[in-house]
Formats: sequence, structure tokens, C-alpha cells
Amino acid sequence: MPPLLRSLSSPPPPPSLLRRRQPLRVRSLDAAQPFDYEAQLRSHFRRSSPTLKIAILGFGNFGQFLAKTFVSQGHTILAHSRSDYSSVASELGVAFYGDPHDLCEQHPEVVLLSTSILSTELVLRSIPFQRLKRSTLFVDVLSVKEFPRDLLLRYLPAEFDILCTHPMFGPESGKHSWAGLSFVYDKVRIGDDESRVDRCDKFLDIFAREGCRMVEMSCAEHDRYAAGSQFLTHTVGRVLEKLGLESSPINIKGYETLLDLVENTSRDSFDLYYGLFLYNDNAMEQLNRLDMAFKTIQNELSGRLHRIYRKQLFGDAEGARELGMTRSMVQKLLSNGAPPHAEPPSDPDDAT
Ligand code: NAP
Repeated sequence: MPPLLRSLSSPPPPPSLLRRRQPLRVRSLDAAQPFDYEAQLRSHFRRSSPTLKIAILGFGNFGQFLAKTFVSQGHTILAHSRSDYSSVASELGVAFYGDPHDLCEQHPEVVLLSTSILSTELVLRSIPFQRLKRSTLFVDVLSVKEFPRDLLLRYLPAEFDILCTHPMFGPESGKHSWAGLSFVYDKVRIGDDESRVDRCDKFLDIFAREGCRMVEMSCAEHDRYAAGSQFLTHTVGRVLEKLGLESSPINIKGYETLLDLVENTSRDSFDLYYGLFLYNDNAMEQLNRLDMAFKTIQNELSGRLHRIYRKQLFGDAEGARELGMTRSMVQKLLSNGAPPHAEPPSDPDDAT
């Protein structure tokens, strides 16, 4: 027993407190500070064991990214993945286990799921839960939230705690610092027991200590917001990537932002993007809205073009010139694939 606790333990604890909490260390604290029992206990737990033993399942891009910070904060990190990452793990100071049974026998306090959204169910079904401690905290970091919440509630033993989270950043956006970046979490099932509450708080504290903006919200709320922001961002990034944008010597700031967006989103796997689409009920609606918005803009442009053409057709060439368009410019635009409802007349030369 540490000297501080030894000195605190001399007066006998009140019998009522002895009944409430059995471990000797706790009784010692009770005896010393009987009027502030709960606060003492919590701060004691924090002081006695500030670090966690965390097992990461899925040691790909994002799992490794998280592990670096966990290790830097002094936590003990174990990892398992479908592929063999033993050498990269040892460089990061992480113990890699090729067999999930061996990893679970290490009795991590926290198991963190960082697999692709698409493979989550498969991975969950392969975990030998019986080898874990009866009380283990399961955390997921998937970019959608209702889907893993439902799977965790379905597959995990009832005694396990569940914390659904989404760090709203990745290896690119969080490369230099996590300060100011959002961390969303939902305490889906955390037991009332003091040690369980404390374990969950300690895990959340990893992100709070890095300066993340801690946002507690339900999984459903997360998915609604994320479809309108994250899925849209990834979609636009991927569309722009298809255009093959290149930097020019005269980039405007906005264009630089687009190039950054392509850079940020193109490094994520297609599995991740597909998961955002497939497992967020709101994603399809966002895709349709984007499509409609694009068509609206196209129509606004072609509508104007159409008006100019009409002016030319019906002899108001003066009006068309006021708009800065010559007949040949209009013809060129139309032949370059202007939207269909700006079709030129059969004989454009009759137009003026
Ligand atoms: P990902 O493509 O979404 O997931 C890759 C991980 O999934 C790897 O660990 C991979 O294992 C594993 N995996 C894929 N298919 C598997 C299968 N059939 N069986 C077992 N494992 C399989 O890329 P990621 O960026 O690493 O993302 C991991 C999780 O973090 C995802 O759920 C994602 O939504 C979430 N997330 C990512 C970011 C980000 O910026 N990247 C940010 C927040 C949250 P192996 O490598 O061993 O094959």
C-alpha cells in the first residue's frame, strides 16, 4: 500500500461505509474523509491508475493514428487486425496480437473497434468475449453511429459497457494537433458502478486532454448531422477528384481549398466512403439534394442563355449585345453542351 494510503488508514472506518465498499484501499479513504466520500473515491481512482489498457481491433489507417496519441499519453496499447501489422506496431510501442484469443486474454479494460464500417459485424462475431473480463468497456469510432450502436447492443454480453464515439477528424485533418477538433460521443450503456463510470471518463479524457471539442449527442442525431456535412464533404471531394484538378500558378484561395478537400478525402479508403453511404439512412437523401442543386444551377445558367438566344431569335439583337453576348458566342456555348432546354433553332443564321 502506498505510504499516503497507509497513513490515511489508521482510524477505523464507519461500519456503514464498510458495507458499501469492500476493498481495503477504499475503506482507508472513507475513514480519513467520511464527509466527502464520493469525491475522494473518484479522485483516488484517478490518481492511483491514470492510464488504461486499451485493445484496438482494426489496426489500419485510423487505428494506428489513434494509437500514436494513446501511447504518447502513457496508455498501454494492444492491437489485433486481419493483416499483420507487427512491425509497424512495435515502432509505435504497441503490442500486436495476430490471434484475437491471445489479445483478449490480456484482459484490456477497453476494447476499441476501428474496423471498416462494412466489416464491423464480421469482426464482432469473431471476438472471443468469454476471454475478456466480465466488465469491459467497448468503444467504437465508426463514422456512422446508429449502425454500430445496434450491432454492439445485439452482440455484446449484457455486462459490457458501450460507448459510441466519432472523432470528427482523421490522419490528415488531425495530423498536427487535435485541438479544437470535435469528438462526438454517446454513452449508450455505462454501468452505475463507480469504477465503470470512472473508466469511461478516463477514456473520454484522452480526447479532452488533447483539446478536442467534446460533444455529447445521440447516435441518431449524429447521423442526421453527419449526412449533411461529412457525407456531403466526402462526396464533393470525390467528385472533384474525378475532375483531376491540378494546381496552377494563379490559384485563388477558394481553389486552394478545393485542392485541400481532394487531398483530405482521397486518402480515405473507398470502404469508408461506401460505409458512410450505405449505413447512414440520411445519405441517399443528401445525394439526391446534391443532384437537384447541381441541376438547379445548370438550369439557372442555361435559362439565361436561353433568354439571350430568344432575344436574338426575335430580333432583339441589341438586347443580347447589352448582355455582352454575340451570336457566335451563344452558338459556341450551345454547341459545347449547354443543357438541353437551350437548344438552338434548326437554322441559327435566321436568328438575327
Ligand atoms: P477503413 O477502410 O474504414 O477500415 C480499415 C480497417 O478495417 C483496417 O483495420 C482493416 O483491417 C479493417 N477491415 C477491413 N475489412 C475487414 C474485414 N473483412 N475483416 C476484418 N477487418 C477488416 O479505414 P480507416 O480509415 O482505418 O477507418 C477505420 C474506422 O475508423 C472506420 O470505421 C471509419 O469510419 C472510422 N473513422 C475513420 C476516420 C478517418 O479519417 N480515416 C475518422 C473517424 C473515424 P486490415 O488493415 O488488417 O485489413
